[in-house]
Amino acid sequence: MRSGGDLLTPEELIEGLGIGRALAFGAHPDDVDFGASATLAALADRGAEVTLVLLTAGDAGGFDAARSAEETARVRLAEQQAAAEVLGIREVVLLDGRDGFVQPDEALIGEVVRLMRTYRPDAVLSFHPERNWDRLQASHPDHLACGEAVVRAAYPAVENPFAYPELAQQGLEAFKIKHLLLMGAPADRVNLRVDVTGLQERKIEALSRHFTQHRDAERMVGFVSDQMSRIHGGGGFAEEFHHVVVNSPETISGF
Ligand SMILES: [Zn+2]
Repeated sequence: MRSGGDLLTPEELIEGLGIGRALAFGAHPDDVDFGASATLAALADRGAEVTLVLLTAGDAGGFDAARSAEETARVRLAEQQAAAEVLGIREVVLLDGRDGFVQPDEALIGEVVRLMRTYRPDAVLSFHPERNWDRLQASHPDHLACGEAVVRAAYPAVENPFAYPELAQQGLEAFKIKHLLLMGAPADRVNLRVDVTGLQERKIEALSRHFTQHRDAERMVGFVSDQMSRIHGGGGFAEEFHHVVVNSPETISGF
């Protein structure tokens, strides 16, 4: 089954959405590498500034029961930094969420708003807040919470000068998000695909940096390659998103 949505080249994506800066949010290390790393590499290769934010260090991940949560967090952050280097991501920002307990609450939305106002991205990447019933593993509760927090921050909090007034006092003024690219979306929400043919090996390379997370690396490579080729549907490789225009010149907004 082919996935839906327009198939854009990276150049068409960058031009169409005007992406000079992108800010990507994942709940755990390796999340964004699975969902969007080839797209992020394509953006970085063409000069976009890409920053990755992790809500948790993934301290409840992996398969080594003997390892402490602190050690797992340390190893996973180092793995993510190595993967980011493969992709050309400039910076990895770690928030202090607890793996398995992410909530789209006032504190997390405030953190997301702070980062959006700091980096002022042209496009924000995150998880889809709706559950994908076809593959429940794509909709880990932390992923849904990450998506929900980012969507709630994107409208209205980040652009409302009355929300989180302490941020404006620190010089982080209200700012309008233009585009959201949401990964892990239910199939009927997918409306944009990015042709990443030629970057599939970079994605696999980035994923392979997360050594502790792959019980069966060969199976993981097969799964990810099949997924990218199914999304493309024409012999190449692609990643898919639900593209949401939050603000365009025609948008009328209020709070
Ligand atoms: Zn995850």
